[in-house]
Amino acid sequence: MANSDPEGVDGVRMTWNVWPRTKLEASKCVIPLAASIAPIPPHSDIPTLPYAPLRCRTCSAALNAYSRVDFLAKIWICPFCYQRNQFPPHYAMISETNLPCELYPQYTTVQYTLQTNPDPNNPSNAPQLQPVFVFVLDTCMIEEELVFAKSALKQAIGLLPEQALVGFVSFGTQAHVHELGFTEMSKVYVFKGSKEISKEQVLEQLGLPAAGRRSTAGYPKGLQNGFTNTVVNRFLLPASDCEFTLNSLLDELQTDQWPVQAGHRASRCTGVALSVAAGLLGACLPGTGARIIALVGGPCTEGPGTIVSKDLSEPVRSHKDLFKDAAPYFKKAVKFYDSLAKQLVDQGHVLDLFASALDQVGVAEMKVAIERTGGLVVLAESFGHSVFKDSFKLVFEDGEQSLGLCFNGMLEISCSKEIKVQGIIGPCTSLEKKGPNVSDMVIGEGNTTTWKMCGLDKSTCLTVIFDLSSTDQSNVPETVNPQFYLQFLTRFAA
Ligand SMILES: [Zn+2]
Repeated sequence: MANSDPEGVDGVRMTWNVWPRTKLEASKCVIPLAASIAPIPPHSDIPTLPYAPLRCRTCSAALNAYSRVDFLAKIWICPFCYQRNQFPPHYAMISETNLPCELYPQYTTVQYTLQTNPDPNNPSNAPQLQPVFVFVLDTCMIEEELVFAKSALKQAIGLLPEQALVGFVSFGTQAHVHELGFTEMSKVYVFKGSKEISKEQVLEQLGLPAAGRRSTAGYPKGLQNGFTNTVVNRFLLPASDCEFTLNSLLDELQTDQWPVQAGHRASRCTGVALSVAAGLLGACLPGTGARIIALVGGPCTEGPGTIVSKDLSEPVRSHKDLFKDAAPYFKKAVKFYDSLAKQLVDQGHVLDLFASALDQVGVAEMKVAIERTGGLVVLAESFGHSVFKDSFKLVFEDGEQSLGLCFNGMLEISCSKEIKVQGIIGPCTSLEKKGPNVSDMVIGEGNTTTWKMCGLDKSTCLTVIFDLSSTDQSNVPETVNPQFYLQFLTRFAA
């Protein structure tokens, strides 16, 4: 079948199809040496192999169609570092006429399905990790808007897989964590909106143990879905178990009842609410994919993350203010969201923002936490507007239209030794894995050849910027392979 996409089957588009050989030649290229990559290739005709890739024992690149193979000696030579690697016993049948799929020249991209088994000593104890969704709902809205937002939430919960865990936080002047496992009456844990709160304090206030530590002894007993029983039973419940409770809770939920002074903005503690949601998710084990889905109706005016004062005579900072460094709340708010981003990346969790307001809500300040975790942003003027309604539904829907949300992504880049990676522009975080292919010149998320993508989907696209190493290659000996090689290796949980 002819492929009309310029990215081809690999989901990679280069700025240059022919690369310069020397640093000098490279410096003459006005357009940088770069590649746009789709970590989840858009084509379904990529072969899926039911085993793990063979990795080079020196540079850990995966065995591929460009590796040279000595069929007699059962050895493959890594095209990146020229290491000779012995094939393992299960490749013993390999021959020129009996190739494993990853060595077929046409399969330049392959997909491996791995059996996740985090505890090799006790496989039966390994929990099945289902995704977690913590909804964070702003209640400082007019009644009409809140009704729209609540109805979208109800629809979303109905669309979630039955076993997906759901949690709920609402906020206004204060942040409320709702105990969904307590069905007799509504029970909430109240957090003051004006004070920054650490992950440890959140867990302590909720009466939860800090379970997010990696344990070498395997998973503790009584663990469900990557959480200790107390978290699952109290705050995070399977969608099928809490749908009714959550629906009645939403029916009763009112707009923020704290009085708003004339000429003032509502007191809205978006920062604390997001910290509390992140802290709650901090009780889960590494490897649990989770999203915080925030529905926000205006700017944060209370506590950490504040972008404007409550006094309406003071306007929200404009582009011009930011440009002139005349936005008094900006730096402090960015610093707060930067530390929230670090916590979320560390936990492997995503922040999504759905904002509906006629004025600004402060995306410029929150951006860092959304971008580094691979989150989604949708801005609309009302929660009743189709821009919000349709986008929100797509996040949870299955089928053709679905975004295909994936969790816990990791990208590794291997390249020939002449190539250096300057960095990546796009939704990811550098894991600061230094090596010979890392450039000193950093663009975007750099200083590494490994990146974390807490959340990614079918439309995720990253741009990798390359450089050539400064060693002069004008006297390249004839024996050196005239080709450059690049390998993009993505791991994720679907
Ligand atoms: Zn290698």
